[in-house]
Amino acid sequence: MRPHTLFVHAGAEPDRETGAVATPIHLSTTFEHGPAGERRAGFEYVREANPNQARLEAALAEIEGGASAQVYASGMAAASTLLQSLPAGAHLLIPKDVYAGVRSVAFEFLGAQGIVAEAVDTTNPAAVAAAIRPATKLIWIETPSNPRIEIADIALTAELAHRHGALLAVDNTFASPVLQNPLALGADVVMHSTTKYIGGHSDVMGGALVFARDDELAGRCAHRRHVLGGVMAPFNAWLTLRGLRSIGVRVERHATNARLVAAFLAGQPGVAVVHHPSLPGHAGHEIAKRQMRDFGGMLSAEFAGGRAAALAFAGALELFTNATSLGGTESLVEHRASVEGPQPVTSQALLRFSVGIEHADDLIADLARGIDAIRKL
Ligand SMILES: *Cc1c(COP(=O)(O)O)cnc(C)c1O
Repeated sequence: MRPHTLFVHAGAEPDRETGAVATPIHLSTTFEHGPAGERRAGFEYVREANPNQARLEAALAEIEGGASAQVYASGMAAASTLLQSLPAGAHLLIPKDVYAGVRSVAFEFLGAQGIVAEAVDTTNPAAVAAAIRPATKLIWIETPSNPRIEIADIALTAELAHRHGALLAVDNTFASPVLQNPLALGADVVMHSTTKYIGGHSDVMGGALVFARDDELAGRCAHRRHVLGGVMAPFNAWLTLRGLRSIGVRVERHATNARLVAAFLAGQPGVAVVHHPSLPGHAGHEIAKRQMRDFGGMLSAEFAGGRAAALAFAGALELFTNATSLGGTESLVEHRASVEGPQPVTSQALLRFSVGIEHADDLIADLARGIDAIRKL
């Protein structure tokens, strides 16, 4: 089956007991078993597994082309479970431009477990190759990346990792499974913050790991999730699966709108640079064309007038809401440096845009308000 059919049908069998076409919610925390613990349908206690979680996992595994999937309470619960499952003494490579939470796990928490993390420019294969050590167990990439929308070559990095006995994990949140399937390009694990495009409506938090093989690593992560408790709640799994059903049409529209918005912004006075791989001048344009079906709904822009211009632009918008997160139907804008705490890593001149599924003309008219505002500075 083709992806757009899978988005609708994966994990969507009618309920066996009632025939319900829409997936029922099972909120039960416990499941009847026999006197010696014999399970009726494989379930025992909600922290280990439950029917809504199982349906979502089956769907995500099929959609990403994996052998198995695990859903978590959040994207960070998924990412940290994988990273913390590395053995003591392991060396880990993460990108320089990466989701801030992943950077925190790598540098604030993994050290205590004897895991050494190192940030490298993962858009540069020579830099990745030079950073690999005998102890390197995992290379983590995020493509497109947050917030600079950089592109790493998944197939090339997978080959590099495997040549040195390491695994490749890809944070596929920004592309979504509609636009990019890292396992098919050689990655070993795919991670999603399902809070974003998969949930798709800014109303449910969750995360997922999809494994190329149902092996010892997948087992270790499942065990950690069961014991440490970072599992996705049944209602969240139900909402997330409901969101997933329309991801095909949503992400196509996000990506079309983002191409139009990027092209508009790139030609405006006061806009120094637009980061979106659809633009031929983007460093990752050719790789993105190869490994993605479209260029995605996320972009960022840097303003010649620095912080003042970025804030004036963001403050003038009426349709784009100033808010964090991404991947919902509505358009959002965020001055990342303002929300990154006392020592921001992102340029003060940068705004990040999550382009929604509204009409592109209305979005562009709104952005023209921002351009007017910086012209008046
Ligand atoms: C949001 C996000 C995460 C973290 O996911 P949560 O669901 O917020 O915990 C990780 N990576 C990327 C790229 C994200 O956008």
